[in-house]
Amino acid sequence: MGRYTGPSCRLCRRAGEKLFLKGDRCFTPRCAVERRHSPPGEQNNRRRRPSDYGVHLREKQKARQIYGVMEGQFRRYMAEAFNSPGITGVNLLRTLERRLDNIVYLLGFADSRKQARQLVRHGHFTVRGVKTDIPSFQVRVGDVIAWKESLKNTDFFKERTEGIPKRPIPPWLSLDIAEMRGEVVALPADSDLTQAINSRLIVEFYSR
Ligand code: SF4
Repeated sequence: MGRYTGPSCRLCRRAGEKLFLKGDRCFTPRCAVERRHSPPGEQNNRRRRPSDYGVHLREKQKARQIYGVMEGQFRRYMAEAFNSPGITGVNLLRTLERRLDNIVYLLGFADSRKQARQLVRHGHFTVRGVKTDIPSFQVRVGDVIAWKESLKNTDFFKERTEGIPKRPIPPWLSLDIAEMRGEVVALPADSDLTQAINSRLIVEFYSR
């Protein structure tokens, strides 16, 4: 499965807003969006109004980039969302939120989703006691996500888990700080889904 390996900040500059792809750096004045307000590439002073198609496309790209999902997989998520009962946009965002790499990030075990993906790929986590190294793994209610036991005495583990929790934990997850493990206590409610993404535009993009 491929993944984007180019500069993260370029994606934010193209989107024209912060996508928070780089952890702590995103909250400092070193953020590229704060320093340069122009899109990447050769500058053309003529400002063009984005077309209707462009607005829809950009929203889809934004969602893909925030969660680090490639085009093919995103299309599959969309097909599943269309075929599931309920509101399509909510189904899509719920699927994105339930990715294992996203859970590792939300629990504060990683500074960014990109780093979370790498930690998962390296086999540092178990789900319900079973080693799971697939970043796209869909967690279910009741799943317990824990660091692999053999890692717990290492400096790496101590360094990674210092200052936990780093951010507020969403209400559909719980974190046991003493044991450094999290549990999925519910499916994300509509109000828990990211407000940064307009799922209606994405659904309209795929309904054309
Ligand atoms: Fe985006 Fe973070 Fe880079 Fe700022 S520092 S441009 S928010 S990835």
